[in-house]
Amino acid sequence: MLAAMPPSPSKPRNGGESHIRDPLRNRVRDRADACPGALRLHRADDGGLARLRLPTGVLTAPQVAALADAADRLGDGRIGVTSRGNLDLRGLPDDCGLALAELLGAAGLLPSAAHERVRNMVVSPLSGLDGRGFGDAGAWARSLDALLCARAWTTGLSGRFLFAVDDGRGDVAGLGGDVTLVAEPDGRALVRIGGLAWRVAPDDAPTAALAAAEGFLAVAREAGTGAWRVAELPDGAPLEEAVTERLATAGVAAARVVAHAADGAEALPGAAGVPPVAAPPEPGLVGDRAVSVVAPLGRVTSGQFRALAAGSGDEVRVTPWRGFVVAGLAGRAEAEERLAALADAGYLTRPGSPWLAVSACTGRPGCGKALADVRTDARPLQDAALRGLPAHWSGCERRCGHPQGDWVDVRATGDGTYDITVRAARRDNDDAQAQR
Ligand code: SF4
Repeated sequence: MLAAMPPSPSKPRNGGESHIRDPLRNRVRDRADACPGALRLHRADDGGLARLRLPTGVLTAPQVAALADAADRLGDGRIGVTSRGNLDLRGLPDDCGLALAELLGAAGLLPSAAHERVRNMVVSPLSGLDGRGFGDAGAWARSLDALLCARAWTTGLSGRFLFAVDDGRGDVAGLGGDVTLVAEPDGRALVRIGGLAWRVAPDDAPTAALAAAEGFLAVAREAGTGAWRVAELPDGAPLEEAVTERLATAGVAAARVVAHAADGAEALPGAAGVPPVAAPPEPGLVGDRAVSVVAPLGRVTSGQFRALAAGSGDEVRVTPWRGFVVAGLAGRAEAEERLAALADAGYLTRPGSPWLAVSACTGRPGCGKALADVRTDARPLQDAALRGLPAHWSGCERRCGHPQGDWVDVRATGDGTYDITVRAARRDNDDAQAQR
């Protein structure tokens, strides 16, 4: 029987800051991780919010139907997609926890209640569909998830700790994972954590990723600074030693890869063709048996969600760019038909739409911090100098869900008024994952 937890209270309006460094105690986190989950709801201004982690990013057709039913029966009839490819249900009543847990459990979406908030993964969504990439990112993600759920210590990771599993095309390797697996052209895997990397055999990649996370947790606990993420470890923390030790204990033969060596002999993961900034799949056909679409502003109705899996054998992959890839279609005719149906349903299905560059946080009325109804106000920017960059509309300075890389920050300063600035890339995507 799955246990449901009552909603956690909203953060205090002036005390909800999640990343405070106390110079006296050198702590980076002064409160417990309150990240919402499927079993621990967050109380938002528009009702309870449940967040379902999808470690492999893949849903079957029955699971799509179950989630749409959950949104209709328990929530406000809509489903949100986060910048980690997780799914949000909103408008939930306080007493729905058990019903939601049973519904998700029956659909096979909660394999371990104890681990549900730490199954944070982004995975190359087109892996195996378009002939690109050098490894099976989905298989690595499934194995890593099974290992994660089989260990008790992994529940000590925070709900923000992120694994990225990249098939070598470089799409999710730039999304700020704490531990990143990248397939190399010869099939081997790079395991990255912080500024460190090791090369391992493909079969060892999931075990190596877990060993790296275990090394982080040991170092974080030793430092006593409350770090949730690798970037929060204090300078000089012995991460390399800790990970090396865990790799050896796990029986993984791993070769240390030196980043940007002075002699130029080896460089980190650019050697595998991995760019620093993510590249989302373009909407449209993916080969002859899959399609890629984007949900405008990352939120769909239950009816739109059901439309993704119109066939019983369809596989729906949720992307970290608030989109979906529908795979398992019979052939080109069915793919074209499905793309047209999803366009009719309101999805973005063609490259070039200016809405592809627009995202928004929850804003009013769902978030008590919001100064404006950003989802109503959000639209493509007209300034030619800003076109080409993703524009993210936020209701306050937290900028929840903002993109990686360079982006345009459209931040509310009042009801209907916004400040617009260009922000440069940063590697830590912590804020990007804090969407409420
Ligand atoms: S950025 Fe948006 S969702 Fe996040 S706290 Fe501010 S108003 Fe709320």
